[in-house]
Amino acid sequence: MTSGDKLFGRFLGRQPLAIDEPQAAVPPQAIGLLLVLVLDQQGRVLSMSGPLRHALAQLPPGIEGAHLNDYIVPGSTQALEGRPADWSGQVLDLEFRGLGRKTLHLRGWVQRWSQEWHLQLLDIGDLIQQRQQALSREQCQVFAAQISEQLRLCNLTRLADVLHEQLADLARYWHIPCLGLALLDEQEQGWVIHSCYTAHDAPRLWQDGQVLGTGLDSLNGNTPLRLNQVQGLNEHPRLQGIFAHREGFLVPYRDDHGVAAWLLCGGYTVQQHAPNLLDRDWLMLTAALAGPLLSRLREHRHHLHLERLEALQGLLGAGWWELCPGTSEVLLASQLATSLQLPENSMRLPVQAWLELIHPADRDELGSRLQALQLGKPLLLCVRLHTPDPTMPARWYRLQGQALGQGENQRLVGFMLDISDIKNQQQQAAAAHARLDNLIASSPAVIYVQRYLEGALQPSFFSASLQPLLGWNLEDCTDGRLVDWVHPEDRDLYFQRCRQLLREGSVHSRYRLRDRDGDYHWVLDEAKLLRDDLGLPVEAVGLWLDVTEATLATEQVRQSEERYRILVEDSPAMICRYRPDLTLTFGNRPLAAYLECSAEDLPGSNLGNWLSAEQREGFERRISLLSPEFPVSTAEINLQLPGREHAWWVWSDRGVFDDQGRLQEIQAVGRDNTEVRRSQQQLTQSAKMATLGEMATGLAHEINQPLNVMRMAIVNVLKRLDNGDIQIDYLTDKLKRIDTQVQRAARVVDHMRVFGRRSEVEQQPFNPAQAIDGTLSLLAEGMRGKGLELRISEMGFEVQVMGFVDQLEQVLINLLVNARDALLAQREKHSDFKPWISVYGQRDEHSVRLWVEDNGGGIDPRLLERIFEPFFTTKPVGVGTGLGLSVSYGIVENMGGRLSVSNGQDGARFCIELPIAPADQITR
Ligand code: ADP
Repeated sequence: MTSGDKLFGRFLGRQPLAIDEPQAAVPPQAIGLLLVLVLDQQGRVLSMSGPLRHALAQLPPGIEGAHLNDYIVPGSTQALEGRPADWSGQVLDLEFRGLGRKTLHLRGWVQRWSQEWHLQLLDIGDLIQQRQQALSREQCQVFAAQISEQLRLCNLTRLADVLHEQLADLARYWHIPCLGLALLDEQEQGWVIHSCYTAHDAPRLWQDGQVLGTGLDSLNGNTPLRLNQVQGLNEHPRLQGIFAHREGFLVPYRDDHGVAAWLLCGGYTVQQHAPNLLDRDWLMLTAALAGPLLSRLREHRHHLHLERLEALQGLLGAGWWELCPGTSEVLLASQLATSLQLPENSMRLPVQAWLELIHPADRDELGSRLQALQLGKPLLLCVRLHTPDPTMPARWYRLQGQALGQGENQRLVGFMLDISDIKNQQQQAAAAHARLDNLIASSPAVIYVQRYLEGALQPSFFSASLQPLLGWNLEDCTDGRLVDWVHPEDRDLYFQRCRQLLREGSVHSRYRLRDRDGDYHWVLDEAKLLRDDLGLPVEAVGLWLDVTEATLATEQVRQSEERYRILVEDSPAMICRYRPDLTLTFGNRPLAAYLECSAEDLPGSNLGNWLSAEQREGFERRISLLSPEFPVSTAEINLQLPGREHAWWVWSDRGVFDDQGRLQEIQAVGRDNTEVRRSQQQLTQSAKMATLGEMATGLAHEINQPLNVMRMAIVNVLKRLDNGDIQIDYLTDKLKRIDTQVQRAARVVDHMRVFGRRSEVEQQPFNPAQAIDGTLSLLAEGMRGKGLELRISEMGFEVQVMGFVDQLEQVLINLLVNARDALLAQREKHSDFKPWISVYGQRDEHSVRLWVEDNGGGIDPRLLERIFEPFFTTKPVGVGTGLGLSVSYGIVENMGGRLSVSNGQDGARFCIELPIAPADQITR
């Protein structure tokens, strides 16, 4: 039982009376002296009179001499004990059994009347009822005060529980089986059971959160509404569903928003269960529930709203401000104060201090706008903050304000929003835009827009670069006149471009446009079609790039390429391109003719197919030495051509390199050198023969010498034989000498034969000392015979050079023979002259040098430069050929070396310098 129940119980001393009809129904004429009972000494009823006697319930039959107590409701307020004499002098409040189970509240007193007692009674039913109603109301007020206090003071988190408890108390107290509080829900746009209570023995009509729809909308919200099963439900068919076709009671709650809540009592007949509660009591109870509840809920919503607002302000870097005109101060939202980096708790500051936060450039304007605001002109301004460091990006705020109210009540409020991001982006965009405009203006490009109009494209914009480029403007080409500017030959192309643009959404084309002076420009047209949300064309945006120069240049390049192609094709030289692996990518007709195939077959075939393995190796080695610094190399290469023994080509290669310096391709030019080579060989051969001729006297001496020795030996042996005095030892000795001399002569002849042969085709590695030995075997004896001293030094090292040993021998022979001639000429002049020839070798890391020196007085310095020229000689006609040194020079050069001369102290110094062959060449 609640505290309210207890209180109520104390007042009444019992539970409320169970009555079928309200007591207000008692007829007013019942008031007055209405019943007189005549009692005996024992309290038994002897007779009764007065109008109310008919209202008393009949006693059950069979009770004789009924006692007064038999008429009294058992357990009534005042118990009658003892006899009438005991009651005299007291006011008796008695409850009599009435007809129809009603209770009659009567007040009276007893008076002795001889042996009898007269009990005279007045009806006080209405007094009792008024008292009960007053008690009920008081009770109700206390109850309402309690409910309202509980709801107002409880923690917001407990609000739902507390409300539920209050509903439960209420329902239990007034025996309401189902009690619900319906609120108007803004989101659901209808009524919703906010909270409800169902007694444990009652059917559950509702549940929390249940949507009731608009069933309560049309009701009169001023007074409670009673639904009894017969009448009320028919009147309010829409409530039938809510109350499940049972009786019910609905109490509205109105506030300044209109009807805001309904207290629903389901399965409840209010007349029966709470007869003492008047409508206004119910309204009060409902208000006690709904009023604080709604204000708590609104407070909660307001709180959430504030929280959201504050979060929003914080996130946006925004906040409100309010000017207080009286104090010339400004109030700032705390988030705004934080965003402006004001010290903590400085949400109120003088307007002047506020203005000082603003950049000087914007400050005055803001000050004047604030004054205008006071006159009612709304404020909207973008301002910068004053930052002490000018290198920091500017912080921009959008400031908006308005005046609310007028006169004394006027308030000036507004907000500040951080728009630095947008503003800085705007500035960047503006800068980029300006740069772009600049770029467009200075580039040979025109940007245009063509609007789509019923299938046609009409120019609607041109960038300013149109005028300098083509000299026309937008008006010159509206209404379909653009095509007039297109070159007549390119108009089909232009229409095709428009169709393709509409069909495919973008196009890339090139055509000629006439400028105002009548000159044509080649333009590259890049256009894109823009469509709306429905995919329908809106406009085409495009760009014309003046490519006249490029187009003409391309044409020139094409023509020049054609000329070069013809040049290459028709050149007598062999021209080709090949990759580092010697695969041809191009070869001209002469090359194809030499290789006996068609020029078309050349790409893909390998140059190496026509080279011997050695040549190919040498060729590849040479190619591998090409570098971006030294991209060119020339060599004489030897090929094995179909149907010909050997061909000699002078071949020039130029390497083509990529960015990383890797060889990509080689371009080569070749010339057939076979004939030259052949005549050179012939020349060498004839020079050899000439040398042999020159050496003939020496050789005769060379061979005569052994012959003389042999003849002497034979003469001596024959003499001994004649004398018969021949000893075997003597004979053996002579025969050995003859044999030695025969071998010597044979060697000379042998060597001459070798020397007279043509050189090999391929160069071979050999030791140059071998050539010195060979030369001396041919010349040494002859020289010595002529009294020339030969100073031959040992080489003292072993090296190999590439070439032909017989050719180097020929060079040495030439040098020695020339030295001999010079020395002999000198001796003719000076008889005591001691001629000598010195031959020696030197080497360093890369080359070997063979020196031939004499003391023949040297060469006239004026002639030094000329002695290697062919046919240059100082010797008399028929003696000198003038070929010796020139051929020698060619031979040494062919071996990759150099023949040079200088004058020493005593005579000429010739030097043959030859490269030392690398080890891998020798081992081949
Ligand atoms: P040739 O010997 O047939 O004259 P070369 O070409 O061999 O032809 O020599 C050309 C000239 O160089 C000679 O005529 C001579 O004048 C000069 N010459 C060559 N070698 C010597 C030398 N060792 N001393 C002086 N003069 C020389």
